Amino acid sequence: MTTAEILKYAIDLVAVLLLALGIKGLSKVRSAREANRLAAIAMALAVVGVLLNSLGTTGISSSSWIWIIIGSAVGGLLGLLTAQRVPMTAMPETVALFNGCGGMSSLLVAIGVALFPTTTGEVQIASGLVETISIVVSIFVGAITFSGSIIAMAKLQGWLSTPSWMQSKLRHVFNIIFAVISFIAALELIRSQGNNAIWLLVIGSSLLGIGVTLPIGGADMPVVISLLNSYSGVAAAAAGFVVGSQLLIVAGAMVGAAGLILTQVMCNGMNRSLISVLFGGAIGGASSVSKENSEYKNITSCSTEECALTLEAAERVVVVPGYGLAVAQAQHTLREVTRVLETSGIQVTYAIHPVAGRMPGHMNVLLAEADVPYEQLKEMDVINPDFPATDVVLVLGANDVVNPQAKNDPSSPLYGMPVLNVQDARTVFVVKRGMNAGYSGIKNDLFELANTSMVFGDAKKVLGDLLVELKELGVGRKG
Ligand code: NDP
Repeated sequence: MTTAEILKYAIDLVAVLLLALGIKGLSKVRSAREANRLAAIAMALAVVGVLLNSLGTTGISSSSWIWIIIGSAVGGLLGLLTAQRVPMTAMPETVALFNGCGGMSSLLVAIGVALFPTTTGEVQIASGLVETISIVVSIFVGAITFSGSIIAMAKLQGWLSTPSWMQSKLRHVFNIIFAVISFIAALELIRSQGNNAIWLLVIGSSLLGIGVTLPIGGADMPVVISLLNSYSGVAAAAAGFVVGSQLLIVAGAMVGAAGLILTQVMCNGMNRSLISVLFGGAIGGASSVSKENSEYKNITSCSTEECALTLEAAERVVVVPGYGLAVAQAQHTLREVTRVLETSGIQVTYAIHPVAGRMPGHMNVLLAEADVPYEQLKEMDVINPDFPATDVVLVLGANDVVNPQAKNDPSSPLYGMPVLNVQDARTVFVVKRGMNAGYSGIKNDLFELANTSMVFGDAKKVLGDLLVELKELGVGRKG
């Protein structure tokens, strides 16, 4: 083995180890930032490794260098601008877009290799059954990931709604047709070991991605995004086989496996099977969120002053953060309020629902920004038994995750999804701007219960007013 080859394997090994450590670290909020850095270093090493290897084998022509530099500069700039500008609330759309880009890259690599089967540098291509099957898998999964992710992004952004025929059983017929087209094209590609039927496979799998993702909405969207994330890993691993890159195979397999585990965690959190998410159809969604819901009766509302008086007398308070808290960017004001309560000896905990907000871990990240201690964050299973012994629950911009319909109403689209049982507490205050529905677009029975009071207003404004009221009452000075 030459020194160049030893160096290449060493770089690959270090990159894979750092990537594994990065993925492990991302499972905890505390280590997530560091883990992200490790994964970025792994990626940079991988790129350096590939370039060094290409230099060592065939060399890289000056025109190739120009393309590599232009591509890296444009991609790097777009990534930088996106990271700086995208608000936390738009993160799911961004993740969906990034998954789509991953799928598209694998798709383009496979198409390029199939159409131009040359051997360049590390790329040893398109001869033999294994290579052809790798190309087929890479195109099939890459195209589904790309088209499905773009649809998911457009739905989350509110640009696209599910057409009514897509919610009927007819969609299964279309999806079966798209799957059969893809299957026939794949068989033809493998049989001919050339590039016959390549465009038929691209079209069939792209339509399948659209057909499967379009009917999904509402509470099921987080599951689909993590599933598409997993697909982008599988597509990358297949592309790794296509271009003969062990590093890409290992990295893609890791992303695929991590995405699958996250998908399973999200399914468990919502008590849904993956099959029912993928084939169960739409249950609302961003585009179908109803505006002011006129069906509510017997709503009780109160002022921040009344809310402050109840909080002053409480011993145990549970805060339930939701999407609206992120929209209002009220996490720092919330922290000031809870500091004041804690100084008076009131016990404060935070109830975290796995799909609160708009991305997995959204609330953990939001509260971490405001230095809320991790040990005060309680998962749904841990906090639910504590609600009967809780004096006050402050629901801040949350809706679907506290909807009792999910437990009590078999006809509800949310039925079966585990929710936070806040109604078991003595008093519940719900802070939101009006009676708008949450992401699932349905009514929330919690708001009509006798122990619930609505405190209307933007979460940041209400919490600011609450802080003033608490201070006027002398809360926070008692020690
Ligand atoms: P919801 O989307 O159910 O409800 C959010 C509520 O916040 C709305 O009813 C809105 O009411 C209120 N709100 C909006 N802006 C403000 C503001 N500035 N101040 C105060 N309130 C505000 O949020 P949840 O967190 O309860 O549930 C998350 C939902 O999103 C679930 O259905 C989940 O399945 C879905 N989802 C989750 C993803 C994830 O990965 N976590 C990804 C995609 C979807 P009003 O307008 O009246 O103020």
